[in-house]
Amino acid sequence: MELIVAHDRAGLDKARSSGSVALVPTMGALHEGHRSLIRMARAMGEQVVVSIFVNPLQFGPDEDYARYPRTLAADLEICAEEGVDVVFAPSPDDMYRPDRQVSVSAGEMGTIVEGAVRPGHFDGMLTVVLKLFNLVRPGIAVFGQKDAQQLALIRRMVVDLDLPIEIVGAPTVREGDGLALSSRNRYLTSDDRHAALALSRALRAGAAEREPAAVRAAAREVLASSALEVDYLVLVDPATFAEVPDSYRGEAVLAVAAKVGSTRLIDNLPLTF
Ligand code: AMP
Repeated sequence: MELIVAHDRAGLDKARSSGSVALVPTMGALHEGHRSLIRMARAMGEQVVVSIFVNPLQFGPDEDYARYPRTLAADLEICAEEGVDVVFAPSPDDMYRPDRQVSVSAGEMGTIVEGAVRPGHFDGMLTVVLKLFNLVRPGIAVFGQKDAQQLALIRRMVVDLDLPIEIVGAPTVREGDGLALSSRNRYLTSDDRHAALALSRALRAGAAEREPAAVRAAAREVLASSALEVDYLVLVDPATFAEVPDSYRGEAVLAVAAKVGSTRLIDNLPLTF
């Protein structure tokens, strides 16, 4: 089957099947992590739609919206290789009316951890995800565990707003040396790339411990001896992103964000206590 590329909502409507649709929302600059999400979607839906949209609403004024990599031709090749049925790649003008008023609020959960460093980011992210859900009308949508707080907030939106969509989380794909794949890795110089390994190293050092306090301490120690400018290192409940107490038992996420040179990277590992 030929890959259909829809650049606006009319094209999407024409291409959308009446059967079960699985959606993989992305901002493009596709890599192996995105491919793994696409493969998961293919195993779950009759028609796979990949959206490629660098969402201006989720970037702060000092963030990298303008320089975010846009590689549509290469992305379409990857989608064709992976057997994607439809790529939805709208323009910002097609997605947002100039007089738009209403948007989604991520609530308090959108203001902590990653949301504390990037005010408004999660509101912008949920707003575009809800719009994509309404335009594509998928039964299933696949998101990466790499953006763990994003995944948690999307699950909350589905529950709190009664969206008839199943959310599937996919494990983080890494390079052989541990670096989590990210579209932003292409900003890294070779020195940056080497320094960035401290993120996954810190997470692994934390994961080797058995108690929350020891997990935090071990991860912090690795970060302290690195060249990274750390935004946060937290051990949180995966559903709420609230810090877990030292006596905690259950699922948790050890999450880190740091600047490497001029590039900001995030990573996390799921843990069980
Ligand atoms: P992005 O294009 O960065 O907005 O990411 C689109 C989707 O791919 C999101 O659901 C991400 O969580 C997911 N993703 C990004 N990097 C990875 C990775 N290394 N492994 C698995 N999924 C990822």
